[in-house]
Amino acid sequence: MLNFKTITIAVAALLALGIAGGWQWPNIVLLVIGYTILLAWGSYRIDSQFYMPVICSGNTAEKKIALSFDDGPDPVTTAQVLDILATEKVPAAFFCIGHKLEAQAALLQRADREGHIIGNHSYSHRTAFGFSGTATVKEELTRVNDMLEKITGRRHLFFRPPFGVTNPNIARAVRQTGMKAIGWNVRSLDTVAQNGEKLLANVLGSLKPGAIVLFHDTMPLTVDILPHFIESARNLGYDFVRLDELINEKAYA
Ligand SMILES: [Zn+2]
Repeated sequence: MLNFKTITIAVAALLALGIAGGWQWPNIVLLVIGYTILLAWGSYRIDSQFYMPVICSGNTAEKKIALSFDDGPDPVTTAQVLDILATEKVPAAFFCIGHKLEAQAALLQRADREGHIIGNHSYSHRTAFGFSGTATVKEELTRVNDMLEKITGRRHLFFRPPFGVTNPNIARAVRQTGMKAIGWNVRSLDTVAQNGEKLLANVLGSLKPGAIVLFHDTMPLTVDILPHFIESARNLGYDFVRLDELINEKAYA
């Protein structure tokens, strides 16, 4: 299987054999470069399962999909997303950034009360998160879990790695905190989208049974297209179910 452990063992064995067989520097350098490229690929592909198990879709042939929103809560756009979801009776999962939580406790309580799942998206969402040690990652996860429990009264189990980056430290921290890593298999790219029509066409064109769709509840463009997206997906025969139901995993301890 193509994962961190098996690849590392294979590369170490190859290196030992190569050196014993009289390899010169160019061979060794090539092997190290190849290994580094594989590690980077495993790190940046959330669905690679290279370092850790990450649930990226539901196992179903039925036209069921789940919505997920990252990087909130935002006082304006998250509230608008919640309004739309309430009107359309669509459940969703909100992966929240810890440092935004304290000021938005009421919004979070509303999301929880209205039947949405809350997930952990780290405390800092720093670009350097992927370079943090296990203790730091664990501290961030626990800090957000404690905040979420204080605000909603529940222990939440879903974690979405910031930027979709995984590595051995994040894998260990997730394991030690007993959390479940959640990815996606339909990425809207709404943070870089310039145009609502293209964004809508891109997401609708990528839908498939069991899809976990990634949006950001911080983007006004996402708020603009959301009602059209829901209507069009339903016209294509898709049903919106809550993330925990789609992947058949418990969202709370
Ligand atoms: Zn994010």
